[in-house]
Order: sequence, then C-alpha cells, then structure tokens
Amino acid sequence: MTSDESRRLYDRALSVLAGGVNSSVRATMPYPFFVQKGDGGHVVDADGNRYLDYVNGYGPLLYGHSPPEEVQAAVQKHSSQGPMYGAPTEIEVEHAEFVARHVPSVEMLRFVNSGTEATVSAVRLARGYTGRDKIVVMQGGYHGAQESTLVEGEGDHVHPSTRGIPQEFAQHTIPVPFNDTEAIIEVFQEHGDDIAAVLTEPILGNKGIVMPVDGYHETLRDLCDDFGSLLVFDEVITGFRVGGLQCAQGKFGVTPDVTTFGKIIGGGFPVGAIGGRAEIIEQFSPSGPVFQSGTFSGHPVTMAAGHAYLQYAAEHDVYEHVNALGEQLREGLTEICREQAPEYTVVGTDSMFKVLFTRDAPDEFEGHCDAGCTQREDCPRYELCPKTGADVAACDTERWERVFWQQMKEQGVFLTANQYESQFVSYAHTEDDIEETLDAYREAL
Ligand code: PMP
Repeated sequence: MTSDESRRLYDRALSVLAGGVNSSVRATMPYPFFVQKGDGGHVVDADGNRYLDYVNGYGPLLYGHSPPEEVQAAVQKHSSQGPMYGAPTEIEVEHAEFVARHVPSVEMLRFVNSGTEATVSAVRLARGYTGRDKIVVMQGGYHGAQESTLVEGEGDHVHPSTRGIPQEFAQHTIPVPFNDTEAIIEVFQEHGDDIAAVLTEPILGNKGIVMPVDGYHETLRDLCDDFGSLLVFDEVITGFRVGGLQCAQGKFGVTPDVTTFGKIIGGGFPVGAIGGRAEIIEQFSPSGPVFQSGTFSGHPVTMAAGHAYLQYAAEHDVYEHVNALGEQLREGLTEICREQAPEYTVVGTDSMFKVLFTRDAPDEFEGHCDAGCTQREDCPRYELCPKTGADVAACDTERWERVFWQQMKEQGVFLTANQYESQFVSYAHTEDDIEETLDAYREAL
C-alpha cells in the first residue's frame, strides 16, 4: 500500500493549515491519508487505496458515501436555487416539524451549524432559563470545542483542559464521573440550587463507548426535577443513530428538557440543533431574552439533506439494516476476543461499536454481552466493563494508536484513530463487508 501522494499533500498542508488539518483528530500518525472520494461503504485515498469506512465522518454519514437518490436530488435542487438567502425557507419548517414529531422531548427547535454551537447555545439557554450559572458535566464526556465544558478535574481542582480558557469559566462547571449515582447526589446536595443544567451524552461516545448503568439517567432526571435544573441530553452522536428516529432518549425512556443534535440531522452537511419544550426553546431571541443567532443557521441545503435523510429512514429499513450489521459485527468481535484477547471488551449498541483494550480478563471467560455492552448486571463482564470515562482512559490506548489502528488500515479498514471515539456502521455496508472486517480484526488482534 503506497501513500506517496498523501505524504506530499500533508507536507503542503503543514505549511498552510495548523498541524496540517482542520480538526485535530484527523492528524493521524505518522501522517493522515488524504481522501480523494467516498464510494458506498468505502473511502478511496489520494493514492488510490480503498478502505472500508467505519469513521463515517465521525458519525453523520448514516448512508455512508452513497446517500439515497432522494437526498442527492434535494441537495442539488437547493444548492442550485440559492444556496441561501438570509430569510426563512419552508424546508427549515418541514425539517423542524419532522424532528418534533419523532423525538419525545422536542416540541420546538433552533437550528445552528455544528454540535459545538448547539451545546454552547444550550448552556446559555439553560442559564438564561433558570437564572443560575453552574452546569454539571460528565468526566470524559465531550460537548465540542466550547469554553464551559472543556474542563477537567474534580471538587476544588477543576480547571480548563486547554490553554486559552480563563479559570473563571471552569469555576461554573462541575465534572462528575458518568454512572456514579452517589457522586451526582452529593453534588446536588451541595450545589443543587445553583445548578442550571446537567449536560450528558446518553451514551459516552467520545471516551467510550460507555453505556449508562440501569437507573442512572432516571436518577439524573429525578434530581433535575427536584432542584429545578434542566436535564440536557447531548445527542450529537446518538441522535437518529441510537434508538432510530426517537433517538437515545426514546430507547432509554428518559425525557430530557433540552436535547442537542448535530451530525446525522444535517445529512452530511454542517449542522447543529437545540430542541426541547416550547416554553424553554422560546427563551431564544427573538421570542425570548437569550441571544442566539447565525448567518448560516437553518441553511437550506443542510435542511434539505437532513430532512431527506430522515424521511428516507422513516420509509425504509435503514435502522433494521445498520443495527443488524452492528450486532453481527459485535458478536463476531466478541468471538474473536474470546479466543485471542479475553481481556478486551466489545462495546456498543445499534450501529455503534468499539473494542476496548481493557487490561483484565475475568477468571472464567464466558463471553461478553450477546450484542454489545448493555451494562446488564447478569453480564459475565459486568464488573470489568468500563463504567466511566476514566475506565476507558485506563485501557491500553498506546497499543490502539501505535499498532492496532495502523494494522487495520494496512488491511484496508478505516477505524477511528484513537481508543476513545466510537465507530459506525452505515447503510452502505453489507454482511460481506462485516465478514471482511472481522477477518482484519482477527489478523490484527
Ligand atoms: N457533542 C458531542 C457528543 C460530540 O460527539 C461532538 C463532536 N464529536 C460535539 C458535541 C461537537 O460537535 P461538532 O464537532 O459538530 O462541533
């Protein structure tokens, strides 16, 4: 597998783009392959190498690189007639109506242009609505490149996780370990009346995949109700990926006050959205006092792509297909780990999957959960299965990044380049693709 052209492009990029990329996670070692084009479930790099793609743009590409004709026609129509106006269009209303019809917590929405913008606006909205400043986040959770959530530490030692953010921002943020019921109860006992919102991914997908333990989301819901705080589910990854059109909140049966979306809701184009009960979302300007605005927000091409994406999923077997392939993959991986790496843990649900390079094998290895980890207490790996972001950080991350990821790439399988980020099956993948992928895992492990 040659990569001369990618190397040449990376050299050029390093002169004009910070770190040679426009999003830090793309700077894979020793240098990234540059993508020439996508083709169904594959991407083709600048040197003509083909890879089975499980990155799928870090989640947006429910259909891989061959979206249905309806999606392509909608994009072409709206891009050739505009593409945008600085005035409202019918397609924004149609897309909002669709989301409100399907997602349990959503009556009303505001569309923005990225997941980051969605969570920034959701935090401002929660603070504006409650008149409080503090927010609770999960350690290892990720809500985009925003000031209020790029924090780490705990207790009195919370600080920004990057240079460039004043310490004062971190003072309003309380990170807690995901799935730790006692910790969140303690935080509410101490700060409950000052907490504007608890912000959590329903499933940790950026230091994951970590599923919620039974009852955890219900505890968050109850505490928020008791103390008048808002429960915000960040469904940027899980939205229209897990739980089908009802999203993860539908799957878990817990209704947040506010939901943030991104990725799939834009059909492969830049997008974010904040949804929730009308009385909360109406706090956004111009109907309310919380300022929110954006030149590109509700972009007609994005709205058309996102709407056609979801409409197609509503009318076809999209979720059945990707979830069945996800299960085939997780079951196959479980079998491979049983034989070759009993200390590793297969995680995921629906069309999300990952093998965590956990370090301890159970005394008696009876396999993992049948179809990805669901944090069931009767699972033979329950005790060993990561429950928090810190548990995932304790995995053999070096091996993933320096050895395993490269080996999979050499075999023509494109996975997320670090141990932490989720991988995704798309509608373009086939059972044969899954078998080919399992062969590559078997070889690499
Ligand atoms: N929230 C979550 C849960 C995410 O996974 C991400 C991005 N991976 C974001 C927010 C930020 O979205 P974006 O990169 O579109 O700004």
